Amino acid sequence: MFDYPQHVHRRRHGPSGYNDFRSFKPWLRDEFAFRCIYCLWRETWSAAGDAAFSVEHLQSRSRRPDLARDYTNLVYACCGCNSGKQDQESPLDPCRDALAAHLAVGADGVISANTIEGQSLIEICLLNRPALVTARRTMVQLWTLLNAVNLANARELKQRLFGYPSDLPNLAKRHPPDGDSMPSGLESSFFERRRRGELPALFETQEPTP
Ligand SMILES: [Zn+2]
Repeated sequence: MFDYPQHVHRRRHGPSGYNDFRSFKPWLRDEFAFRCIYCLWRETWSAAGDAAFSVEHLQSRSRRPDLARDYTNLVYACCGCNSGKQDQESPLDPCRDALAAHLAVGADGVISANTIEGQSLIEICLLNRPALVTARRTMVQLWTLLNAVNLANARELKQRLFGYPSDLPNLAKRHPPDGDSMPSGLESSFFERRRRGELPALFETQEPTP
């Protein structure tokens, strides 16, 4: 469940024209599968759901104000990673780098680096902050435990924790001021996949290739 992407992410959406960068959030939730691209924490594990996540600028607003509302500079991150990173530039971009080549999560919840860029990201985003390591380890243990029992309650809990959020954004109802340069991406949105009955009950650890 803590697998970093093995492939470079190819964006499925291209909204533009919002005055407030926060308006891109529903698109980014769908784009990055409702989890933090840095620490891999998921919305379904946070009591606050998507309120515990924010629009993250790969290149900070202070350094590159011209990219502050450019979708290609925006990703999805939990508020903890977002505030830890502050205005530092990310050494890794999931749309340029396959993060699995740089980072890995151990069964103990600790994230280790395979590269200098990975180590830099761990330090910039404080990916091994103690409470987060403990929380990741708890999720690994819970996953193992729930898979070992065959009870209706366990299956229900597994789907709630390790499935997709109930409030998937219906992006077709959103109309970015300057349009969406990749309208075909709506078909592969999680909302549409669920509507067609194609969304698995448990989340995919690797994103399907668009
Ligand atoms: Zn995070």
